[in-house]
Amino acid sequence: MIEIRGLQKSYGSHQVIKGIDLSIAKGEVVCIVGPSGSGKSTILRCINGLEDYQGGSIEVLGQRVDNKSKSIKAIRTEVSMVFQRFNLFPHRTALENVIEGPVFVKGEARETAIARGKELLASVGLADKENNKPPQLSGGQQQRVAIARALAMQPEAILFDEPTSALDPELVGEVLGVMRKLAEAGMTMVVVTHEMQFAREVADRVMFIDGGVIVEQGPPSDVLNAPQHPRTQDFLRRVL
Ligand code: ADP
Ligand code: MG
Repeated sequence: MIEIRGLQKSYGSHQVIKGIDLSIAKGEVVCIVGPSGSGKSTILRCINGLEDYQGGSIEVLGQRVDNKSKSIKAIRTEVSMVFQRFNLFPHRTALENVIEGPVFVKGEARETAIARGKELLASVGLADKENNKPPQLSGGQQQRVAIARALAMQPEAILFDEPTSALDPELVGEVLGVMRKLAEAGMTMVVVTHEMQFAREVADRVMFIDGGVIVEQGPPSDVLNAPQHPRTQDFLRRVL
């Protein structure tokens, strides 16, 4: 579903991704872990066509991702993104946030989008919050609206960039619970996270990146419980 080969990305003269290969199959859940500044967000942003890149290639469902290509809009509807800071429209209700993409980007009929939007809000436990605006919702509720909004595009895959890092600790579980349900339903997911317990239980594969390269990857039981590389060992010692 997602095929990255030899990805290189620089900001000016600062190279932040130094040759990354990554294949993600349909239904796979890949967790990306690594220190701050290692390039995790940049990889997600490149997959989604939010950043250009200087070397290598990215394909989503066989379509090349680069922001000169005509397919970029199609790719963004096929791959949704959930951000650390929710990025909801503050003056619109939860339901209006959820139907925005289907109606204005995909041109769906408003009634259809509303019906599915209500179902999606119910599926993330927010059936009674559809008319609330983001400032009237907790961080955990806002992030669940953001996940419903991502799902409303009927994406083939969802990229999560530290979806629980901005939340108070007691609200983390409700968001991870929704993500776990999605994973169990077969959604293809790439999740940048510091939640090692989630990675251990939900990921098919964990990738540790540092300094713009993949240092180590494999099943969570290997990478998180028996890391081979000293940099992985050092990182895990500091976060666990
Ligand atoms: P992570 O998500 O792992 O914390 P990022 O992918 O955000 O790391 O950033 C990787 C590196 O690229 C960091 O050194 C960061 O400062 C730099 N960087 C990220 N975005 C930009 C930008 N828009 N302009 C310049 N440098 C950037
Ligand atoms: Mg980041």
